Parts: sequence; structure tokens; C-alpha cells
Amino acid sequence: MTSTRTPATLAAEVLVEATGLRKAFGQDPGRVVALDGADLQVHPGELLVVTGPSGCGKSTLLQCLAGILPPDSGQVRHHLPEGVVDVAGLDDDARTDLRSRRLGLVFQQQNLLPALTARENVELPLLLQGRPAAEIGAAVDAALARVGIADREDAMPAALSGGQQQRVALARALVTDPALVLADEPTGALDSAAQDDLLALLRAVATGRRAVVVVSHEPAVAAVADRVVRMQDGRTA
Ligand code: ADP
Ligand code: MG
Repeated sequence: MTSTRTPATLAAEVLVEATGLRKAFGQDPGRVVALDGADLQVHPGELLVVTGPSGCGKSTLLQCLAGILPPDSGQVRHHLPEGVVDVAGLDDDARTDLRSRRLGLVFQQQNLLPALTARENVELPLLLQGRPAAEIGAAVDAALARVGIADREDAMPAALSGGQQQRVALARALVTDPALVLADEPTGALDSAAQDDLLALLRAVATGRRAVVVVSHEPAVAAVADRVVRMQDGRTA
């Protein structure tokens, strides 16, 4: 269970945990059970990959972890420095605030706002947090440099390759210095060279206390993980 890279002291701690999550969509006879008792614990510093066949509930699980989707039952608890918070107990504003302060999200595609430059896309989370301009400039410089895309900061998303777009999306996820990065099939639209680049970056992002959770059905993604959790039919193994 514990990774070889993550110190045992961190592996014993929990950043976020999901317990007994159930979620169904639609009504009978077309009702689909997406989560059927899924459990997950994320530990500081780990790169955790959740894998399993298409339709097994990976994206639904990630959206429940992020507080984007409410489960029908079960709990999502974030362990914050000030205490443990159950997402179900938060109102919309508090959930949005938790996401903004705590999480960085990366999706497969349509990640970036097409009318904004790469740099403007990365600035956005900090503008929404109301940070001062000087602080924003420095943080954006650092995030763009970290993903190796600083030289394309003035490009519009459409002028970037798929791999470059995902690196900008990762910079946007990292610019707020989140404790947890959640990525849903982040390499799904990439060729294998761009996939390897992005996986190396995600690998490097899972450092210190920051954890990265990647959901993906691709074996190449599971291969770089500290820990792999397999899903099937809405359940975690
Ligand atoms: P995965 O990410 O592993 O491919 P998902 O979590 O996206 O799986 O979906 C799990 C199941 O729930 C699938 O059968 C999917 O069709 C269904 N599902 C997911 N989201 C919705 C939705 N918004 N409405 C109806 N069915 C959905
Ligand atoms: Mg999915």
C-alpha cells in the first residue's frame, strides 16, 4: 500500500478520504449506478492513480472528491490544517472556497478558456481569489516556468499543441499552490511523447506534502504511480 518514495510518516497521514460513496444517475429503468460503495484515501506526497475500464466510475469519484458532485450517500472528508471538513456539510460558497484554496483540477480537454492567452488562463485562479497584482505576476511566472511553457505565455490556446495546452492547464492548477491536484484522464488526448512529458511533470508535482490523484484507464499512467487503486463497477478494490 505505501509507496517506496513517500516517507512512512506522510503515508500514515490523510489529505482527503472518501468512504462508502454511492452515486446513481437517472431513473429506472435507465438508472445507472456510477459509484457502488467506493472508498479512497489520499496520503500527502503520493502520486495515486485510480484506474479501471471506461464507465467504472473514475470521473464520478474524482468529482465527488472535488466537491463538484454530491454523492447519494457516503462521505468525503478533507483533512485541513484547522480540522477535518465533511464536504456534505458545506454550502455552495464554502465548497467553492475549499476547491479554490485546496485543489488544482486538470481535465482531459477543453481545459483552457479559448479567448485568453496561456498566461491569462494561469492568472485566472489568483484573480478569482482577489490576490494583489504583484503577487499574481510572480506566482504565474513560477507556474509557467515549472511546466516549461514560459516561452509561449502570450499564445492563445488554439495555437498550442495538445501537450502544451495540458502543461498550461497544469500550471493553472498549480498556481494557487494546492495541497491536492486532481487530474481526470489528463493524457487522454496526447501522443505518447507528450504523455510522457506530462506524466514526468505530474510525478514532480507530487512532492513535499502535495498529493496528485490521476484517474486514467491507460496502463502507461498507472506505471508511474506510487500507488494504484483499481475500480470496477463503481467499487474500489
Ligand atoms: P469513467 O470515468 O470510469 O469512464 P464515469 O464516472 O464517467 O466512468 O461514469 C460511470 C457511469 O456513470 C457510466 O455508466 C456513465 O455512463 C454514467 N454517468 C456518468 N455521469 C453521468 C451523468 N451525468 N448522467 C448519466 N450517467 C452518467
Ligand atoms: Mg472518465
